[in-house]
Amino acid sequence: MKAIVKTSRARGADYRDMEVPVINKDELLIRVTAASISSGDLALYNWTDPAFTPPSLPFIFGQDFCGEVVETGSLAKGFEKGDFVSVESHIFCGTCGQCRNDQRHICQDLRVIGRDIPGGLAEYAAVPARCSWKHTDDTLKDVGAVMGPFGSSVHAILAEDIVGKTVVISGCAPQGLFAAGIAKAGGARKVIALDASLYRRRLALKMGAATAIDPTAKDCLQKIAKVCGAEGADAVVEMSGAADSVELCLKALRPGGRFVAFGLPVTNLSIDYAGDIVRRGIRLEGISGREIFRSWYK
Ligand SMILES: [Zn+2]
Repeated sequence: MKAIVKTSRARGADYRDMEVPVINKDELLIRVTAASISSGDLALYNWTDPAFTPPSLPFIFGQDFCGEVVETGSLAKGFEKGDFVSVESHIFCGTCGQCRNDQRHICQDLRVIGRDIPGGLAEYAAVPARCSWKHTDDTLKDVGAVMGPFGSSVHAILAEDIVGKTVVISGCAPQGLFAAGIAKAGGARKVIALDASLYRRRLALKMGAATAIDPTAKDCLQKIAKVCGAEGADAVVEMSGAADSVELCLKALRPGGRFVAFGLPVTNLSIDYAGDIVRRGIRLEGISGREIFRSWYK
């Protein structure tokens, strides 16, 4: 089969022939029909993730994909040939404390498809059945390869009630744009999108944001206050990971507001911990991945 693989511990990838994977008893063999490119895939391609050590080379990457089941392992119950599935890239152990407490997305022994085992940038992929989401009809087939990243945005926005709330979304890459649409559809009173890119701000408006603001503008906080009121926003979902944006977003929140930490800063933050979080009663919530599979049902 054809696959996109890492062949060296350096930037780049190769398109080459690989063996069709042999499945374990608890796995499905999936004929991949679509794959999307995640930030994790880009980090592997660009070789910018120092924590990544491929199990072996050549290594097939690709974390988010969907396709048709063509073979089922003897222990892969609930699936049959011809099923159309999207893949949850996070492989949870099922036995640790978090897994036993309905927090499989932050499993203590979490592994990632396309990072710890071969991924979906190939004609076929072997996937644990417990990480497969069976579509019941064709309505989401065209977006089957983005169900995972979309689910993370669902988790970030809908972890708490947002009906009637003002929500700032910082960072309008695909998951931020998903978040804008989810917040709007989920009943937020006003969605305020922040991104330095005019192109992305325009997309955010199309996705349902009431306004889109350049976070590098000196009067950004005043512009947010104009929409939310002087007290600030009810919730901020920080998806950019930019240090400046994290600091800005903390100040954009009203006292008692909810700060959703989603983006991953690569530099140290300079936060007024006492002034911006403790004394203002800010509720801080880290979001990593999506709830398996609660976010998928949402
Ligand atoms: Zn676990």
